[in-house]
Amino acid sequence: MSKSDSRDDDLRAEFTRYIFCYYTHLLSPHEYEAWQSIMIKGKATMGAACHIPGIPSHKRRQGTERLIRRSEIAQERASADPRIGALLKRGESDFFFSVALRVLRDNRQEVVLNLCPKCLALCKTPRAKQCPKCYYRWHNVGDASSTETPSASRDS
Ligand SMILES: [Zn+2]
Repeated sequence: MSKSDSRDDDLRAEFTRYIFCYYTHLLSPHEYEAWQSIMIKGKATMGAACHIPGIPSHKRRQGTERLIRRSEIAQERASADPRIGALLKRGESDFFFSVALRVLRDNRQEVVLNLCPKCLALCKTPRAKQCPKCYYRWHNVGDASSTETPSASRDS
């Protein structure tokens, strides 16, 4: 993999994480159901592999079995609905990225891509005021109580 391929993968992953953290309310019902089936499957897999100290093994087994059952139900529903199957057929990574792009494309007014004013990196949250890449901070920019407000604008 070249350096630019890996950079593209990072941008893709950051963008996808951002949309799935802050804008899942904009998913269509089928996208939401497909996403839930992936999440439940992941939890069931994690539960089966996880050994948390202090939790009795029978409790752990019950929890894992419950998650596996929920995962199977979600998988059945997903495979019974061709619209969900179509969303998942190219794999989870493509699903997440294509849905994130669709959400952005169809909700340009609502989705705020919070980019660093200096380096244009995507911030961690829509309201963050510190860049995760160059660490530039803009907490006072555009703030009425800012001490950086020019005196000329206050006098006029
Ligand atoms: Zn930056």
